[in-house]
Amino acid sequence: MNLHEYQGKEILASFGVRIQRGLVAHSPQEAVDVAKQLTRETGTKWFVIKAQVHAGGRGKGGGVKLAKNLKEVEEVSGNIIGMNLVTPQTSAEGKKVHQVLIAEDVYYPGESETSEFYMSVLLNRSSGRNMIMYSTEGGMDIEDVADKTPHLIFTEEIDPAVGLLAFQARKIAFNLGLSGIAFKEMTKFVTALYKAYDQSDSNMFEINPVLKTSDNLIMAVDAKVSIDDNSLYRRKQYAEMRDLREESPIEVEARAVGLNYVDLDGNVGCMVNGAGLAMATMDLIKMAGGEPANFLDVGGTADAKRVEEAFRIILKDTAVKAILINIFGGIVRCDRVAQGVVDAYKNMGDAIKIPIIVRLQGTNAELAKEIIDNSGLAVHSAVQFQEAADKVKEVLAEI
Ligand code: GDP
Ligand code: MN
Repeated sequence: MNLHEYQGKEILASFGVRIQRGLVAHSPQEAVDVAKQLTRETGTKWFVIKAQVHAGGRGKGGGVKLAKNLKEVEEVSGNIIGMNLVTPQTSAEGKKVHQVLIAEDVYYPGESETSEFYMSVLLNRSSGRNMIMYSTEGGMDIEDVADKTPHLIFTEEIDPAVGLLAFQARKIAFNLGLSGIAFKEMTKFVTALYKAYDQSDSNMFEINPVLKTSDNLIMAVDAKVSIDDNSLYRRKQYAEMRDLREESPIEVEARAVGLNYVDLDGNVGCMVNGAGLAMATMDLIKMAGGEPANFLDVGGTADAKRVEEAFRIILKDTAVKAILINIFGGIVRCDRVAQGVVDAYKNMGDAIKIPIIVRLQGTNAELAKEIIDNSGLAVHSAVQFQEAADKVKEVLAEI
């Protein structure tokens, strides 16, 4: 589950990570009110207005602007709230901005120069360890840095059983070229950041930029946080941060009925039981020359109600031109699934206008094929994997 910048910063602050402070506003008037409050709390005269959407690169898209007085706060907020923000990380239509973060300006002039660093904490799946990735090249696209100057990206692996050790925090501060107060500040920052990542059950904390201010404080100016979905049952305070407006509407609906659905770009919808079989089915569709429109695991109980729910979800995606149902009947018998498909199809009246290929394998597969073939519906049945692939190829050739 992804979070907004302001929510990520709330979590960081709760673990003692220094952040660029800010308050959320939903209207230009509220923006002015919170800007006044921010001045009372921090003394800041200048503000950064930051669009809160689940996408990076907001600065490039015009979603991060400096305001030097309250009138500018009102104007800039008015322009950003309600806009469709297009960034390198959104689709061409962009993302609607519902709220902005009014943050204190932290790039004020002072005794020393400001510097921007990159830092993220994530899971390295190949080593089974946590990893801090960091660079002196902050504030930029880290993908670009990785592409052009990979030697400027450092990594530090952390044994999850041991945690971050003091020497590792010092090594990071050293590699970032820091000394004196800033060095100490950075070791504190890294230590608190790792703790926040670890104890919030997150998949990722990405802070770009980490700022060294002109008075040598180290703070998080941005925060991209993703919490592990599997931990939300015990992290209620984070689960409540979910903003459904930022997620794919079809995925939200699928989750509500308990279906494991991931929206993809192709044209062949899939309905499968079991994640492994679902992956294999997507391969099958590709090999037949199609592109999967989704990943959908209906789980163990493929009865008529569930099949119908799955049909409805798949059909919400208007790009879908054919559906492949691939179910292995182990515990659930194939004839019952077949009956479920037929019933769901009939229940949905004329909602289904595209070809459907059903492959049922396992207990009572032959009987299931009979049920499909005798239903009088425009459904192609198959028993073998290859047969199903050939049928997909056939129907794709016709559309
Ligand atoms: P992103 O573009 O979505 O990654 O949004 P960021 O939160 O990283 O902000 C983009 C850029 O805005 C940063 O890299 C900074 O250069 C700039 N920025 C952020 N906060 C301030 C600030 O307090 N003052 C000034 N002058 N610039 C800021
Ligand atoms: Mn950023």
